[in-house]
Amino acid sequence: MRKKIVAGNWKMNKTADEATALLSEVVNMIKDEVTSDVRVVLCPPALYLTTSRQYLTAGGKISLGAQNCHEKASGAYTGEISAPMLQSIGVEYVILGHSERRQYFGETNAQLAEKVNIALENGLTPIFCCGESRDLRENGDYDAFVKNQITESLFHLSAEAFGNVVIAYEPIWAIGTGLTASSAQAQDMHFELRRHIAGQYGDTVAQDTSILYGGSANEKNAAELFAQSDVDGGLIGGASLKSREFTIVVKAVQ
Ligand code: PEP
Repeated sequence: MRKKIVAGNWKMNKTADEATALLSEVVNMIKDEVTSDVRVVLCPPALYLTTSRQYLTAGGKISLGAQNCHEKASGAYTGEISAPMLQSIGVEYVILGHSERRQYFGETNAQLAEKVNIALENGLTPIFCCGESRDLRENGDYDAFVKNQITESLFHLSAEAFGNVVIAYEPIWAIGTGLTASSAQAQDMHFELRRHIAGQYGDTVAQDTSILYGGSANEKNAAELFAQSDVDGGLIGGASLKSREFTIVVKAVQ
């Protein structure tokens, strides 16, 4: 059975003291709210991953995630962070292919395939982001575009390896804009993506794949989004920076 997951993507926000305060608040508020079939993943800036670890030991229902990793294991890549490094400090998840990485850092589907490989080789669970621009949504070409992101970055994997990947459908027009996809739009796309996965790996793998929704999910709309049969939780940006709101979103998934 697929897992329900709520992941908080803090992006490039918070000073060290602010990050510590948010982390301890969030952990305190959600630790008794998370049931055993829900996983909460906190993805602070990489700089804070090591110190964040000490807050997450209690209960084991909350995991640490990174926001990115390099596609190589080590070497002369100044400023970068590798999957083995993340693994060595107890990170369990890594967000890959976020639209901001694709847009501002030129990440391509082929490069993301390599990042997915190195993440999996090092025991990290990729949270693989896909999603279309507003233009593609409006001209109707979004379905093929998003499916192609998945095909080009993930379909080289064996069924067993694919079973360790989490998908996050994040329409770019909804990220940080306050324009959430309707629950019907999210459900339609998640259903289509699951069908696409079934075409490659069969029904059992598709049914076991967690597909998260991301894009202005918040305390008001999370319950309706998460109630959709193919929506298995969320990747949460802005609302993960406020402990009370994030707790409401986490509660909405169960
Ligand atoms: C995100 O960055 O992954 C995201 C979904 O952001 P927001 O919730 O702020 O739209």
